[in-house]
Amino acid sequence: MIEIENVRKSFGPLQVLKGIDLTVNKGEVVTIIGGSGSGKSTLLTCINGLEPIDSGRIKIDGTEVHAKSTNLNTLRQKIGIVFQQWNAFPHLTVLENVMLAPRKVKGVPKAEAEAMAVKQLTHVGLGEKLAVYPSRLSGGQQQRMAIARALAMEPEYMLFDEVTSALDPQLVGEVLDTLKMLAEEGMTMICVTHEMAFARDVSDRVAFFHQGVMAEIGTPEQLFGAPQHPETQKFLSSVR
Ligand code: ADP
Ligand code: MG
Repeated sequence: MIEIENVRKSFGPLQVLKGIDLTVNKGEVVTIIGGSGSGKSTLLTCINGLEPIDSGRIKIDGTEVHAKSTNLNTLRQKIGIVFQQWNAFPHLTVLENVMLAPRKVKGVPKAEAEAMAVKQLTHVGLGEKLAVYPSRLSGGQQQRMAIARALAMEPEYMLFDEVTSALDPQLVGEVLDTLKMLAEEGMTMICVTHEMAFARDVSDRVAFFHQGVMAEIGTPEQLFGAPQHPETQKFLSSVR
C-alpha cells in the first residue's frame, strides 16, 4: 500500500503541499481532482521519488521513498507513472519503445521483453500496431502505448497524471476505457483527472485538492453527491 503522512513540500517560498495525509490500499482506485496549481502533480512526483519532500513520510509497501537507504531505481519499478504526454523514441517502433525499459532498467532478456511488450500492447488494444512508428499513431493510441510501456515493467501501482488532457475530445474515451479496464483488473492506482464522470465511475475514493491541502476525500457518492467543503462545492459547480 501507499502511505502518505503529513507531507510538506515547497518550491522556494511557494508551499505546494501543506501536510498531505493519504493511504491507498492494495487494489484501491483513488482519483485526485482540484484546480490548476493545487499540488496534484507534485504529489505524484513525490510518491515515486522524482521530487524530494520537505517533511513527512511516503511509504510504499513499508519502504520509505525518501529515506537515504532506499534504492529508488528498484522502488520505481513497482510504481508506473504516465503523464499527459510521453515522447516516444521516434526511430523505434511501438514494440521497441515498449521493450526498452524492461531491457535497460530490469535487464530482461530480449525474447522475454518482447513477449511482455506484445502482451501489454495487445492488452491496451494496440496488437495491430507493433511494427508501426509512434508518429503514425493517434494521440489516444500514443497514450495507450505509454500505458503499455509502464505496464511492461510489471508495476504494482500506477500513477496517472491527466493522461487525457492533451487529447482531442473524441480520443479521450478510448484512453479512459483503458484505465477503467486496469481498475477492474484490480490495479492499485492514483489518477489525477479532470474527467468527473470517469472519477465518479471508477474511483473507490475521490480526493479534492485545494491550494496544497486535501480539502476533502470520500466515496464518489459522498464527494459528488454531497460535497462538504465550500471549495469542493465551488469547484464542482465550475466544472459541471
Ligand atoms: P497541479 O498539478 O495541481 O496543477 P502542480 O503540482 O503542478 O499543480 O503545481 C503546484 C504549484 O507548484 C504550482 O504553483 C506550480 O507552479 C508550482 N510548481 C510545480 N512544479 C514546480 C517546480 N519544479 N518549480 C517551481 N514551482 C513549481
Ligand atoms: Mg498537474
